[in-house]
Amino acid sequence: MFKKSILSLTLVFSFSTFALEKPEVMIFATGGTIAGSAQKATDITGYSAGEIAVSTLIEAVPEIADVADVKGIQVANTSSSNISNEILLELGREAKVALNGEAKGVIVTHGTDTAEETAFFLDLVNQTDKPIVVVGAMRPATAISADGPMNLLNAVTLATSDEAKGRGTMIMLNDFIGSAYYTSKTNSTSLDTFKAYDQGFLGTFAGGVPKFYFDAAQATGKPSFDISKIETLPQVDIIYSYLGMQADQLDALVASGSKGIVVAGSGNGSTPQAVRDRIAELQKKGIPVVLSSRTGTGYVTSKEHGIASGTLNPQKARIMLMLGLTKTQDLDELAALFGTDV
Ligand code: ASP
Repeated sequence: MFKKSILSLTLVFSFSTFALEKPEVMIFATGGTIAGSAQKATDITGYSAGEIAVSTLIEAVPEIADVADVKGIQVANTSSSNISNEILLELGREAKVALNGEAKGVIVTHGTDTAEETAFFLDLVNQTDKPIVVVGAMRPATAISADGPMNLLNAVTLATSDEAKGRGTMIMLNDFIGSAYYTSKTNSTSLDTFKAYDQGFLGTFAGGVPKFYFDAAQATGKPSFDISKIETLPQVDIIYSYLGMQADQLDALVASGSKGIVVAGSGNGSTPQAVRDRIAELQKKGIPVVLSSRTGTGYVTSKEHGIASGTLNPQKARIMLMLGLTKTQDLDELAALFGTDV
């Protein structure tokens, strides 16, 4: 569905006011609920994500033109569960091009379901001081009290803010600014869904202005990856641990092409003994296995049968392992990316 060179196929929409020169912001649109449309204004769950073009999203918020000269690029228009590795690579590269050029900041509009994965990826592959802001909405554009327009205006304001520099990629929703490294979606339907329970928010919007709680900083030990020469990312899969889990699932994943596996373990990365034994065998055969936690929060230290994921939840651990495998297969080096050891 998505061609390799997505951007060459897309239209660029430019919105500017000529009265005063405004900072330039690039908006890469991928779809999601922010671009979602329903039959009725009261439909806030039964709607189609990724229906509305980026040009329409921008036109719906004329106040954006007071803040920035924005250019909208339609990279995809889909539910965020369809965002592929190819789209991740394209977004990572295009964000870099834009930020190396005139853009003061970059925005990615995205479905909230997997926004934390794309945001985390962008955080790891961009070594710039300029802000990248991932924004979405929990209510479709057609809903009463849709949250997308204000979220988008806040995202544009954030992307042009000098105080936003040096903070890595951020997630902007519901008036809160979260670090892409730590923030996750925590509620299936509520507007108040993005949280970093242990690390907290970076800041909030008050009166239309970003207010940061801390001076600019990056996540501790955050590695960076150069994707300029990477054409494909290795297949890494996630498997959920539970009572009675069959260890054979791990072999099935490897047989279907997994080059690395993340286990969403119980508690501190634990999993049944039979699965632990299989993990040890797979690691000897060169398939790294990362132990994360299905609890949704906390630091995973468990390393007796795999690589501990540290602060990273399973979906972020998968992104880290995919990128890590583009550099090394060494278990110690991979563990170091998670801030842990084997
Ligand atoms: N299903 C939507 C998506 O992730 C949900 C959202 O955007 O909030 O694309």
